[in-house]
Parts: sequence; structure tokens; C-alpha cells
Amino acid sequence: MTRPVQPECTGCGMTDVNFVWAAIAGWRLVLGRLRCRRCASGFPTWMHRSF
Ligand SMILES: [Zn+2]
Repeated sequence: MTRPVQPECTGCGMTDVNFVWAAIAGWRLVLGRLRCRRCASGFPTWMHRSF
């Protein structure tokens, strides 16, 4: 049984169930680092990358 990889925010340390849910919830890569929606919203949109 493989352990699911949980995304973890590099800003606040929050985790989400999986990357699909995180993407739906608005998580983004900001300058290559994973950020939850709250943390990503502190950065300009041009820095955001979806995954
Ligand atoms: Zn965060």
C-alpha cells in the first residue's frame, strides 16, 4: 500500500488531503514553492503557477 503524498504549504505548514484537492482549493506554486490559497494570495498573480 502506497502512502499518499500530502501537499504541505511552505508558508504556514498547512497540509491538504492530496494535490487534486489542493489545486481545487486554490493552492498554487509561487516561485516554485507550494503555498496554500491564503499564503499564495499574499503574492502577485504573475508569480503563481498551477500544478
Ligand atoms: Zn499557507
